[in-house]
Amino acid sequence: MRKIQMVDLKGQYEHIKERVNQSVLDVIESSAFINGPEVHQFQKELEDYLGVKHVIPCANGTDALQVAMMGLGLKPGDEVITADFTFAATVEVIALLGLTPVLVDVDPVTFNIDVEAVRQAITPKTKAIVPVHLFGLGAQMDEIMALAQEHDLYVIEDNAQGIGGDYISKDGSKQKLGTIGHVASTSFFPSKNLGCYGDGGAIFTNDDDLAHTIRGIVNHGMYVRYHHDVVGVNSRLDSIQATVLRAKLPHLDAYNSARREAARKYSEAFKGIDNIITPTMGDLCLENMNSDDCNCHVFHQYTLRVLNTDRDALVKHLQEKEIPCGVYYPIPLHSQKAYQDERYDENDFTVTNQLVKEVISLPMHTELDDEQIDYITQTVINFVS
Ligand SMILES: *Cc1c(COP(=O)(O)O)cnc(C)c1O
Repeated sequence: MRKIQMVDLKGQYEHIKERVNQSVLDVIESSAFINGPEVHQFQKELEDYLGVKHVIPCANGTDALQVAMMGLGLKPGDEVITADFTFAATVEVIALLGLTPVLVDVDPVTFNIDVEAVRQAITPKTKAIVPVHLFGLGAQMDEIMALAQEHDLYVIEDNAQGIGGDYISKDGSKQKLGTIGHVASTSFFPSKNLGCYGDGGAIFTNDDDLAHTIRGIVNHGMYVRYHHDVVGVNSRLDSIQATVLRAKLPHLDAYNSARREAARKYSEAFKGIDNIITPTMGDLCLENMNSDDCNCHVFHQYTLRVLNTDRDALVKHLQEKEIPCGVYYPIPLHSQKAYQDERYDENDFTVTNQLVKEVISLPMHTELDDEQIDYITQTVINFVS
């Protein structure tokens, strides 16, 4: 059996090696390292793929979130609601900008932000909601957009984990994740579903004015060279990363299908095992359409809940059996030292507080084979049974 990796970037690279190597050499030959034609081409190709009017490339997914919030003109004191169960980048940028993060609990089935909890957290100071499409499954965007409209709030989708995923609305229409809210951010960190070979990120929006504002912000607040109209940042995608992304974008759908297929095989093997709750395949989304060919979950992570089991002992056991795994995420954001706030009440985070003890993410990437999946699932089942 091939050695199991949490993410097999090398294996994926082998399939696109010639194209990638040649493109990277071409960029070096051209010496157009920053804002070169490759970045512009990638931007256009991603706009076409997503069906969104504007993609603004930037340096990483954390910057993308920050710049999106700056572009919307959010000001210190404004409250921004986001999920307690996510990667810290989301709450970090809210705090960095002097905005007030308001963390709310998540849904135990989808792991995504709980819409009722969002509703209850809205105050006259609330300006935005940041749903995270956690692990690659779209948050309940129909309900979130309706709530935002009712209260005149912005919706910023953190789509770092959901690129290429679909969302099916109640009316049956299909949209790509990251094109539904007022603005969205994504990350091209190497292990993300569309990863480059360094850091990278982008902002998406259908709003022409906001796109213009954001293009200036990522470039030192310049709209005309050496005229600084607003306080901006320096956040760019370089041409070498853009050319790698151009080589990978045509394969994104196949990559996501391979992830869904691996997820399906995992869940099939875990069927009927009492102490394991497998992740949804995106059934909530599927209910809204008649066909099952929806990429509603693109499985950035395949995350189990293990019951009546010492999760940390399972992690250790898998490591001993040379099966890498991850715990995303082990600590609720509201309990992190940097984000503690006396306004929080533990009773408002019962789901997150439970999930952090039960979740375990298994190897998930485009190169998993059946032999590896069998070995992984049998090892997990033997331990929890
Ligand atoms: C990866 C990630 C980010 C940050 O992206 P970087 O490119 O690493 O800055 C933000 N939010 C979520 C949910 C992520 O998974």
